[in-house]
Amino acid sequence: MFVYADNAATTCVSRAALDAMLPYLLEDYGNPSSLYAFGQKAQEGLQKARETVARCLNAEPREIYFTSGGSEADNQAIVSAARVGARHGKKHLISTKFEHHAVLHTLDKLRKEGFEVTLLDVHEDGVVRLEDVEAALREDTCLVTVMFANNEIGTVQPIAEIGALCRERGVPFHTDAVQAAGHMPIDVKAMNIDMLSLSGHKFHAPKGVGVLYAKRSLPLFPLIEGGAQERGKRAGTENVAGIVALAAALEESCAHMEENTAKIIPMRDRLFAELSKIPHSKINGSLEHHVPGTVNMCFEGIEGESLLLLLDREGICASSGSACTSGSLDPSHVLLSIGLPHEVAHGSLRLSIGEYNSMDQIEHILEVVPRVVAYLREISPVWDALEKGEQPHLI
Ligand SMILES: *Cc1c(COP(=O)(O)O)cnc(C)c1O
Repeated sequence: MFVYADNAATTCVSRAALDAMLPYLLEDYGNPSSLYAFGQKAQEGLQKARETVARCLNAEPREIYFTSGGSEADNQAIVSAARVGARHGKKHLISTKFEHHAVLHTLDKLRKEGFEVTLLDVHEDGVVRLEDVEAALREDTCLVTVMFANNEIGTVQPIAEIGALCRERGVPFHTDAVQAAGHMPIDVKAMNIDMLSLSGHKFHAPKGVGVLYAKRSLPLFPLIEGGAQERGKRAGTENVAGIVALAAALEESCAHMEENTAKIIPMRDRLFAELSKIPHSKINGSLEHHVPGTVNMCFEGIEGESLLLLLDREGICASSGSACTSGSLDPSHVLLSIGLPHEVAHGSLRLSIGEYNSMDQIEHILEVVPRVVAYLREISPVWDALEKGEQPHLI
């Protein structure tokens, strides 16, 4: 059985998204900037997509900028706020320790350019505290950026509360909502969000297309210079088919959000309930504030990478919090941020499921994971030492 359980990494393209984009590849392929009527068809597709995305977020169409994905949107939002801040002598930014690298690395770059960055603790439950945001705010703060939902552990942050606080203090607020868009209700007005990033491929649109929402009054600076596309804020001929697909996928996800959630939650809960029975295992992140589909657990005495390789052999695509696959031996910064010791963080497993998964697939995962964990422990010198009491169990 093949089980794709890595929907937080990327998703399949939905039929609705594919159907929406095909005409813009095969028939209406004109350049939206062209003056002839043929190009105008593409322009109209773009405009309709902008209106659809705006409606899904409760924004205005002119506040929607299409980008190449979540990373670009994060970069542009943060760099723009920093440039505006610098003009007014405000060079302090606030974020959290467990943001996506698109945010953290952009902040690192700004730090090297003389900005000060405060990274807030996310505590053991993986949720940032409003008091901590409040305490970090300064006269010279030019941006607060806190992710909506974490991509590794799925915890959801108090976005509306942070938005209200920032609005009261007159500080721009950005959220990386890549893991939330299409999966949880988002209302940029009600939540006082000034800037928001999302990415199509996390909700069944193709890869390489995303959105930066920026409130009308906020100045944006282009990262890419060239033509006047996206009202001068993002040069380059628009990815019309991808943009149209993103809008169709977002509309579909938002229209079916309740039924998708109702389908996903019992599968997720079954995974949590059964996998927690494995001795010396631990659920990462608060389940109280959680996106529907993400399950992140640690199993003591094993290596996440070995677990993933063996799961792959049994047809299961999953991921580990650890960055070892990318050539680094450091465990995930997210798992360390919630206070896990290195040894424990190394044995992590992320299963992220969606509406395309079935309970049969969950049963397959539940048949395989405990068996593979037991096997890896059998051959693990670390587990041996733990069992002999030479080392204390940490979980
Ligand atoms: C996937 C992801 C991104 C990056 O989006 P891309 O479209 O792949 O650039 C950014 N932030 C979070 C939280 C993500 O999960």
